[in-house]
Amino acid sequence: MIRTGEKYIDDLHDGRTIFINGKKIIDHVDHPAFENAIRSVAALYDYQKEHLEKMTFMTTAGNRVGLHWELPSTSEKLIARGQAAYDWARQGAGWIGRSPDHVSSALVGMMTHIEVFESYSQERADALRNYFAYASESDLYLTYALVNPQGDRSKTPSEHAKNIYHTLGLVEKNAKGIIVRGAKMLATGAPLADEVLIGVHNPLKPGIDERYALSFAMPLNAKGIKIISRRSYELGVNPKDYPLSCRFDENDAILYFDDVFVPWERIFILEDIAMCRKQFHATGAEALMDTQSQARYAVKLHFLAGLAQVMAEANGIDKFPAVRGALAELACHATNIEGLFRGLIHNPNVHNGFYIPDQTQLYACQVIAQSIYPKVIDTIRNLAGGGVIMLPSSEDDLLNEEILSFIEKTQYSSVLSPVERVRLMKLVWDAIGSEFASRHLQYEMFYSGAHFVTLERLYNCYDWELSRELVENIKVS
Ligand SMILES: Cc1cc2nc3c(=O)[nH]c(=O)nc-3n(C[C@H](O)[C@H](O)[C@H](O)COP(=O)(O)OP(=O)(O)OC[C@H]3O[C@@H](n4cnc5c(N)ncnc54)[C@H](O)[C@@H]3O)c2cc1C
Repeated sequence: MIRTGEKYIDDLHDGRTIFINGKKIIDHVDHPAFENAIRSVAALYDYQKEHLEKMTFMTTAGNRVGLHWELPSTSEKLIARGQAAYDWARQGAGWIGRSPDHVSSALVGMMTHIEVFESYSQERADALRNYFAYASESDLYLTYALVNPQGDRSKTPSEHAKNIYHTLGLVEKNAKGIIVRGAKMLATGAPLADEVLIGVHNPLKPGIDERYALSFAMPLNAKGIKIISRRSYELGVNPKDYPLSCRFDENDAILYFDDVFVPWERIFILEDIAMCRKQFHATGAEALMDTQSQARYAVKLHFLAGLAQVMAEANGIDKFPAVRGALAELACHATNIEGLFRGLIHNPNVHNGFYIPDQTQLYACQVIAQSIYPKVIDTIRNLAGGGVIMLPSSEDDLLNEEILSFIEKTQYSSVLSPVERVRLMKLVWDAIGSEFASRHLQYEMFYSGAHFVTLERLYNCYDWELSRELVENIKVS
């Protein structure tokens, strides 16, 4: 009964509303802006099916679903879920950031700390528990939208007096649920996921901003949800010219809630600012979901190190000591993140009998991860020189006999044929310089929060006492 890629694609024919390139799209599954990314996600579900032992588990209700839905009740289970995330990430060489195991891990982390919800509201905790059962038993793919849209960051949402529904907020409550209106900044994978989890990451002011303090989950085809897609990087590109863009463009969309009805059974937090903060930081949510991110990131850095080495070999620069040093730096970043990820899954804390990665280690990992990515890209750009620019305009040039003859005269490598060299350099450009690559740079720098935010998280939970004690012990009075 496991969800297959085919079933996932079938389910995605759900009539959701997506706006892109001046058009309203109702059936997006075979649309050229999204079709390849959807197939890449489908391949993840098929991979699960082909590797039942390491990628899935049997729920108490008797369904076989992704291991990422399992609550880590032993240290072995935490290690196994980390390894499953790593193996899934390998299928896309780390380029699918918001794979289905990311937001599911956040929900698992809320369940491991369900008492946080229970002490807030028994009814909301029950809603979360029931929703978790539904989403996990169906092996759903969720995205999330936590960040309020930019506009005026010096103000909180209610202080945007002329436009109080710029940010998603409560319009009314009734016996059956609530009506919400407004925007959330971005939901990566909104065209690919089944449902969206709404939460709040931005500061809200008690007394005036309660209407924005919401968390709920809705299917992306719910009446009134408008998905405003950014430019598609897979649209109209040849896979040989843009091998990453055309397969792994998970898209990021603004979500606008145009008076959307949300039933009570899908509401986890209502008008409670403190609880919105606790949802991710006082539960296992952040720790588990970002452990998945670090698994994925380690894989991506290994890929980039490998790509740089293959390119260096192709250009005959790999024996130069300075180049080997630069490659070793890339290897160092990949190995460091791999080590930090392994540390997260091998050095957990136990809470309610569940094994949860350590939050301080996780926040340190976030800070390091987001600061090294620009350096990694810069290093590869330095190694690439103009080789990623001295390329034929498109694959069509290779299909034209006359142009091909000049490509063969101009693209030389002692280890690759001219066409192989072109293909390699196109891949390098798609990883470091294309619009897809540039979006990835922005993603790695921001997905876990702006740098000042991740630093603040680390500052707040680091064990300063331990450090200060060392100072006290050595200080000469
Ligand atoms: C590719 C991509 C995909 C994303 N996908 C998702 C997603 O799926 N779901 C989701 O919820 N979010 C997503 N995000 C949003 C992401 O979480 C936010 O970008 C991130 O939290 C930073 O918020 P912001 O972009 O609003 O930046 P801002 O908060 O506006 O900050 C931008 C810059 O302004 C300055 N600044 C702002 N406020 C302060 C301050 N108080 N003190 C000092 N300096 C300040 C800093 O220099 C900061 O770097 C995505 C972002 C990107 C780039």
